[in-house]
Amino acid sequence: MSALLLCLMPGASAVSSPTPHVQLELPPVPCQSAPAGQNGTGIFASLHDIGSSSSQLRCRAGHLTFALRTGNDARASAQAQGARCEQVPVTDDTLVMSQLWVCSPYDGLLSARGGTTYGLTFLTPTPLDDVRSNRNLINHEARHAVQWLRYGATMPLAYARGGSDPCANPFEIDAGLLDGGYQC
Ligand SMILES: [Zn+2]
Repeated sequence: MSALLLCLMPGASAVSSPTPHVQLELPPVPCQSAPAGQNGTGIFASLHDIGSSSSQLRCRAGHLTFALRTGNDARASAQAQGARCEQVPVTDDTLVMSQLWVCSPYDGLLSARGGTTYGLTFLTPTPLDDVRSNRNLINHEARHAVQWLRYGATMPLAYARGGSDPCANPFEIDAGLLDGGYQC
């Protein structure tokens, strides 16, 4: 009976498949191109590409606004629950941002695993001193912040579509699995 059902339900065969097919590359960026990378001097660098069309600039400005607002909301939420928030230096100078907001301790639903970056703010249960001394983790989370700048309001859905397994999620792969502390 179950074998018959598996034959009739093509999707069901995936249950027995040891390694489901995963998308290993980031989905297309909603704006026509990514923010400036190595030439950036700050998060606003993404708005200053010479030759960008006005619609592209509007798109990026919208993403930047969303990322800033999301980060502000995350900090307000964390601070309301007793967390302290500080700007921590980002040492990967290929990124368009030189500092990342970190709020700790934060044990809310939003800080699953070792913490989560919302917009330009990293919420974590790990003590601030430990986070500050973990440059790899800061760079990993800063790359997530850059993803928020690239994807804007589509970031949560795009990330979720990458799957719950961090080792196969293109956003985690892009941010650096080892830097994020994932043993894949
Ligand atoms: Zn991550």
